[in-house]
Amino acid sequence: MPAPPTATSTDSARLPLAGLSGVGARTAEKLAARGLVTLQDLWLQLPRQYEDRTRIAPIRGLQPGRPVQVEGVVEAVERGFRYRPMLRVALGDDSRATLVLRFFHFRPAQVAQFRVGARVRCYGTPRPGQHGLEIVHPSYRVLGGDEPAGLGDSLDPVYPQVEGVGTATMRRLIAQALERLPGDAALELLPAEVAAARGLPTLREALLTVHRPPPEADLQALLAGTHPAQRRLALEELLAHHLSLRRQRIALQRHGARPFDVPGALAGRLCDALPFALTAAQRRVFEQVRDDLGRPVPMLRLVQGDVGSGKTVVAALAALLAVEAGAQVALMAPTELLAEQHLVNFRAWLEPLGVRVGWLAGKVGGRARTRTLAQIAAGEVQVVVGTHALMQEGVQFSTLGLAIVDEQHRFGVHQRLALRDKGATGGRVPHQLVMTATPIPRTLAMTAYADLDVSAIDELPPGRAPVRTVVLSAERRPELIERIRGACAEGRQAYWVCTLIDEDATRPSPATRGGPPGDVVAQAAQSTFEALGKALPELRVGLVHGRMKPADKQLAMRRFKEGGIDLLVATTVIEVGVDVPNASLMIIENAERLGLSQLHQLRGRVGRGSAASSCVLLYQPPLSQMARQRLATMRATGDGFVIAQKDLELRGPGELLGTRQTGLAAFRLADLARDADLLPAVHAIGEQLLAGAPRVADRLIERWIGGAARYAAA
Ligand code: ADP
Ligand code: MG
Repeated sequence: MPAPPTATSTDSARLPLAGLSGVGARTAEKLAARGLVTLQDLWLQLPRQYEDRTRIAPIRGLQPGRPVQVEGVVEAVERGFRYRPMLRVALGDDSRATLVLRFFHFRPAQVAQFRVGARVRCYGTPRPGQHGLEIVHPSYRVLGGDEPAGLGDSLDPVYPQVEGVGTATMRRLIAQALERLPGDAALELLPAEVAAARGLPTLREALLTVHRPPPEADLQALLAGTHPAQRRLALEELLAHHLSLRRQRIALQRHGARPFDVPGALAGRLCDALPFALTAAQRRVFEQVRDDLGRPVPMLRLVQGDVGSGKTVVAALAALLAVEAGAQVALMAPTELLAEQHLVNFRAWLEPLGVRVGWLAGKVGGRARTRTLAQIAAGEVQVVVGTHALMQEGVQFSTLGLAIVDEQHRFGVHQRLALRDKGATGGRVPHQLVMTATPIPRTLAMTAYADLDVSAIDELPPGRAPVRTVVLSAERRPELIERIRGACAEGRQAYWVCTLIDEDATRPSPATRGGPPGDVVAQAAQSTFEALGKALPELRVGLVHGRMKPADKQLAMRRFKEGGIDLLVATTVIEVGVDVPNASLMIIENAERLGLSQLHQLRGRVGRGSAASSCVLLYQPPLSQMARQRLATMRATGDGFVIAQKDLELRGPGELLGTRQTGLAAFRLADLARDADLLPAVHAIGEQLLAGAPRVADRLIERWIGGAARYAAA
């Protein structure tokens, strides 16, 4: 750790919480379990929300979902025991409307408090109930007699819950910690002009304001997260995260990598053999990759390209540079279906050039696995295609020089790092090429992927007709039978996607692995498959879902690709990467349940050939507001960037990116969508600090991310 500028800042910042009054060993332990160990941790334990108790809202006109403070007189009390104990209290006020307070857990003393005629002030979020709006478990206070109870004159901070430490205790502890906040000189890490130039307060002022907003503070701005004090903190937090990712990159690039300084003869031969010419965008991105690969530092490059933009062939060309230089290549895909498709492509493209392509997936076992592992270890296979299985223990490469990760949004950043570590030998690490079809706005990419260089294949191969998208209520399902019949009569193929929930069994989340949901979808797919088979007896109907054996799945896919199946009934297992250019009709059931990026991916399975394609989004009414907007967006545009932007607005970046797949840890306060305008400054200041004041950079990372920063280990 670099020396701090003054003793005071460290002294109080690092002070253990046991020094605060009211913190015994047990409380300290509970706080520590949430990473709250020092005073500084409490300073940065920022309110997630505020409760506005400065006013009382009339009951008439309450909006569901919006938290409010209400005051009224108890009109009726009802205790019920139908299924479980329940207490309902009807409150009325001068607006002559009634609100129900509902409790499921309560003590006899509480019941006694709610006498008809008693005056109650409460705070909570009204929701639609059986008899109008109700608040479940409000925080409340029974007011005594006629004595007027004053209103608060500031917002009350709501802190993230810490198990075993109550709301009031948390507020008291943080208030105590703030008493010991040092002066600006000891606390400030950013150059003074950074905040001043933007009209933002110092860190000290900002912390005091967000924890205890003064009465004159702009309440609306605080509630919206746009108050200058919050922006000051967001700026510093974003900066810390940006620096942390840049640090990881710098640390990694301190290792050398093997430069592939080759003429590119193999890549040239593949280009000559392809039945199409590369697009200008593919050529440009390949040149960038080639440039990186020619250097003795590891490439860290993300290739973004909309679905169908032709990322695979760029990956194959990159692989050939490595092979020509005598190194091995690993290509990892998130699903077996996609990995197997890559295997087919890579074999077709590379084997005629004398390159040996191997296969390693979870289901490869027994003797085949032992043999493959031996060939990989001996360097006899030059390119290995597979799934997560590539990262398992026991997989030992001879000279891994390039790791390619496809559809990287499906992997966690840790998995990417693990594959990289496979190839670390003699202080050198493999080059990394990661590909994604989730296009994200540029400034966002610069933050979320600050450890990577980003290239974009921003052009589709010529001759692609845009996919016509229609949105239909599920009642009109029967009409689709004719539509499918028509398309297949012209020699085209169709997908029918059953989507209740995501069921990709290879996704590394326990929530989606195994268990009943996948079975439910598999069953839905099975019965749809049978129904469509009956309705369309002249067609060859196939089925693929996550509960089938991998070999059966692959057989169905292969037959579909070869044209032996006209209509493929599938689940979302076909979401990523599947490429059957002759398919021109895609029907997605329960489209209202899917997110925009998933819909875009699924729709990307058609429109890959020159035939006019269409996509039908079937929905189950009634549609929520969000679902309506998503479907309207899908109908309005096929542009992945526009869709990603809309997704960002609708869902926020947390969900769009998922913290799993970026290097970003969860933010305390910053919000990439709301604070996007700060990002250019974050990048500029970040580069300045790395170049001129690396110790300050370290301290910022330590302050905001602390032990979570993994850069030291990279
Ligand atoms: P994605 O970027 O979604 O991974 P793919 O690499 O699967 O896209 O490519 C989609 C389809 O386009 C494939 O059938 C591929 O062979 C084809 N393709 C790739 N590049 C070109 C090109 N320059 N011209 C015509 N077709 C191409
Ligand atoms: Mg792809």
